[in-house]
Amino acid sequence: MKQKHIIIIEDEKDILEVLEYNLKREGYRVSVSSDGRAGLKMVRQDTPDLVLLDIMLPEIDGLEICRILKNETSTRAIPIIMVTAKEEESDVVLGLGLGADDYVTKPFSPKELIARIKALLRRSSEINESTSSPSITLGPLKINPEQFSAQLFGQTLNLTNTEFRLLHKLASQPGRVFSREQLIQDAIGDHVVVSDRNIDVHIRAIRKSLGDHQDFIETVRSVGYRFKETMNKGL
Ligand code: CA
Repeated sequence: MKQKHIIIIEDEKDILEVLEYNLKREGYRVSVSSDGRAGLKMVRQDTPDLVLLDIMLPEIDGLEICRILKNETSTRAIPIIMVTAKEEESDVVLGLGLGADDYVTKPFSPKELIARIKALLRRSSEINESTSSPSITLGPLKINPEQFSAQLFGQTLNLTNTEFRLLHKLASQPGRVFSREQLIQDAIGDHVVVSDRNIDVHIRAIRKSLGDHQDFIETVRSVGYRFKETMNKGL
């Protein structure tokens, strides 16, 4: 199973160290930031499975970070646990109103916090599973979105995440033509700057992985690409 990634945004060094130590010991990948602005940037760049968020922070406070993250499509689903001082409990109410998922009050026991983290991660992965796209089988090609893997005649294709998303998008509707813009938006995300030519490079890489079956992906001149329709009939 993939190691879960947790970002801690906390400016009190002692607490940060205790948290980092305990979470790493539980097997999580942990990134830390001690100011709000840097923390926000970190979440946007290396999307975590969960954020532990202090309220009183330099640069941007925790409530504002919570508001921003819950307002952006790409970060909305990330569970947030607020870590707050006792005298900030009225802020907790605000935070929960802004979409934070849970909170702990300092001082807290690491054991209790870890139990909360596990519960929240379990809940959010259940949600992801029920909403994620199903696997696709087209003749010899099998695509499994949950594992981010694709196999051709049982052999796993060597694809980057972007290539995988593109292949998955195209194969989700064989015969349908996707423009380069659609592919950029759906498969790569509009937060990344990509040129049309860049899509061509990714497609070339996917075709290379498909080897003898590179004609599965057809070029539709001056429009974009489509997945070969006959594949749908189990060829
Ligand atoms: Ca603080």
